[in-house]
Amino acid sequence: MGTAVRENSECRQRGSRPVGRLEPVPGGGEVGSHGPGRSVPLSSAPRVLLLNASYEALSALPARRAVVMLVGGKADVVHEHPRQLVVRSVGTSVPVPSVIRLREYVRIPYRSQIPMTRAALMHRDQHRCGYCNAKATTIDHVIPRSRGGEHCWENCVASCAPCNHRKADKLLSELGWELRAPLVAPRGRTWRLVSQLREIGPHWEDYLFLDAA
Ligand SMILES: [Zn+2]
Repeated sequence: MGTAVRENSECRQRGSRPVGRLEPVPGGGEVGSHGPGRSVPLSSAPRVLLLNASYEALSALPARRAVVMLVGGKADVVHEHPRQLVVRSVGTSVPVPSVIRLREYVRIPYRSQIPMTRAALMHRDQHRCGYCNAKATTIDHVIPRSRGGEHCWENCVASCAPCNHRKADKLLSELGWELRAPLVAPRGRTWRLVSQLREIGPHWEDYLFLDAA
């Protein structure tokens, strides 16, 4: 039983990078494409966004676990994956989805503190420099750490490399700079998920920012 993931050439052009790790499917199974495809390592199979029955985003699952939930009748497909990947098993062929939804609502305890990760901070600031609006590639501490600034949502901002370099360990008042927008900590459960994601899959954005700050 093969375990290679195949995909058509179209997605290779987008330069996708590995995001997930597949776990064994009970009873085996082979992941392939509908048409002629190209084999890629299992680790590059895309993750699947799991929604609660209420359409609230819960987690990003390994593709194969998502398929197991579909086959087991625990979830339904909301969006199929545009790459048209399929899992083939004995006598059946299941398209790999991009977004699935639980049939039964599950209650998740609410925690308000969202961990600040690089990915989540970049997402909050839309990958734009907080000082000049250029494409951001770094994170800057507005009050430098050397001057007591904290590593937190309210003191960190996405920054382009030139601004970060020019700012160094100075305060905004010393440079006459201003932030383009106030820095606030995002709230809501989907932000917790966003802070854990390495990549946003197709159709995911519709569900990830329902309660964005
Ligand atoms: Zn800048």
